[in-house]
Amino acid sequence: MKSWTKRFLLGLMACVVTFSVPLESHAAARLRNGYYWAGNSPTVYFQFQGFDSGQKTAIRSAMTTWNAVRNFSGNPMVTLKETTSASQADGNIILSINDSFMKYYGYTYKYPMDNPGPFSYCKIEINLAKKLSLGAKNGYVDFQSVVVHELGHALGVAHCHESEQNCSFSNCSTFVMNPDVPIGKNRRVLTSYDKSSYQVIYD
Ligand SMILES: [Zn+2]
Ligand SMILES: [Zn+2]
Repeated sequence: MKSWTKRFLLGLMACVVTFSVPLESHAAARLRNGYYWAGNSPTVYFQFQGFDSGQKTAIRSAMTTWNAVRNFSGNPMVTLKETTSASQADGNIILSINDSFMKYYGYTYKYPMDNPGPFSYCKIEINLAKKLSLGAKNGYVDFQSVVVHELGHALGVAHCHESEQNCSFSNCSTFVMNPDVPIGKNRRVLTSYDKSSYQVIYD
């Protein structure tokens, strides 16, 4: 009887292990990157300098896009607030230019690095060496679409899949949080996937 119980429990554990592995790699598990801004409806200061006026307008629109989302109770979540005086310090997001030949169009560095939990600060780099346009243009990537995507990471949202993985969403090419850049078209409007990925973090 005792060994039957033991075998049963071991069998049960094996089931849990077997079923938890595919769940971990399931796209739904990728809704969040593990980081979040602490506090109740926190204000996060967002600084961007060195961009031209057209790019600044696009950055402000990308901020407004995320600021407009409400949580499941109808309350504001993170409010991104533009500032010119922030430093690379706690509670801020700094957006800067990277004109090196990195392979990314944009990259979000989350701090404390490799330690998911509450953000201390966040740094986004936009690679202006890439073919970026203001608005959809053949062969170019829309600057605002890149910024709205990176801001999603800076709020704690993950990709719907990673490049080497399959995605369980058939419409994932429309998601702002799709990992691949949209060439020649705008992808700035948050889909229900993007919004709910944000909402589950701050509900
Ligand atoms: Zn996907
Ligand atoms: Zn990304």
